[in-house]
Amino acid sequence: MKSSIEIMTKAKPELRSMTLQETIQLTEALGEKKFRGRQVYAWVHRGVKNFDEMTDLSQSFRQKLAQHTVLDNMKCVDALTSSNDQTTKYLFKLNDGNVIESVRMVYRHGVSACLSTQVGCRMGCTFCASTIDGMVRNLSAGEILGQLLEIQNLGGARVSSVVLMGSGEPLDNFDEVTKFIELASSEEGLKLGQRHMTLSTCGIVPGIRALAKKRYQITLAVSLHSAEDAKRSELMPVNRKYPVSEVFKACDEYANETGRRVTYEYALIKGENDREEEALKLAKALKGKLCHVNLIPVNPVAERGYKASSDLSVKRFSELLKRSGIETTVRRELGSDINAACGQLRKSYLDEPEA
Ligand code: SAH
Repeated sequence: MKSSIEIMTKAKPELRSMTLQETIQLTEALGEKKFRGRQVYAWVHRGVKNFDEMTDLSQSFRQKLAQHTVLDNMKCVDALTSSNDQTTKYLFKLNDGNVIESVRMVYRHGVSACLSTQVGCRMGCTFCASTIDGMVRNLSAGEILGQLLEIQNLGGARVSSVVLMGSGEPLDNFDEVTKFIELASSEEGLKLGQRHMTLSTCGIVPGIRALAKKRYQITLAVSLHSAEDAKRSELMPVNRKYPVSEVFKACDEYANETGRRVTYEYALIKGENDREEEALKLAKALKGKLCHVNLIPVNPVAERGYKASSDLSVKRFSELLKRSGIETTVRRELGSDINAACGQLRKSYLDEPEA
């Protein structure tokens, strides 16, 4: 039997992290009928932040839930909306005081949310602001879902697609990220179609393989940024562990297992990876693969001194790929006036001297 101290110090379970089954088990453990668990799950996934909003539950059950569980897991502490488009960047403070960022983007076909998966990141990509201060901790599935629910609450509209491209490396937090995918796509929850979710990775090969085995219908995006080991290792230290050839092998496996086309992201950095010969090498490496290339003029990060490729270089790079039969798009820049590039807003928040 657990001592009362043990019970008192054990962290309360977070409702936003629980599956329907887990919510039902907890409900029964609190002495309520099974169907009450379904009601709780539905409320949680509607994004309520307070137990009093769960109006079809008895007062006493609501009190028990408040005593034994955590519902609200973040507060919006800053929001910046771009004046060029309707992109909004949110800063959320978690219950332990850590701060993360998420982005809401409005497209013709609906609202998209870019979510963080870790506080900071430990991958060390040289062009990325999220990693400059290292990784603090993984986010729970409920904290990833929480960002989505808050974006719906704050934006007043349903989010119809999700990209796991905020701060952090999703495959470095595999269990919580896959739980999030299952929660967000659950029938009794938001019912977000897996085909409307994209997971972006720096190329953690065992993680890509494990994800392929899950056979989700999500899109896998891989941050490639160079098809040559020497250059890629310089930009992305993870390449020293998982070189380009291994990444491609794992991605081919992903495409085979899931039938889904893999997206390769390629941030074009002036003078680093944007030459013609680099486009040709990339085209050669991708020939015949079920894939898509997304070119992104790099968002300059002052700390690193990288500059975006010129419009002309981007166009040339894109045309060379297309001419080789590789499906290629250039990512439209959203929110460039609000520091919407990975980790930049959180970084400026953390760097600000305390008032
Ligand atoms: N860790 C994951 C997901 C987060 S980063 C990954 O590496 O894919 C999401 C995307 O933004 C990645 O393609 C990343 O390489 C890219 N990115 C990071 N910093 C950038 C910058 N300054 N400019 C353009 N793209 C950047």
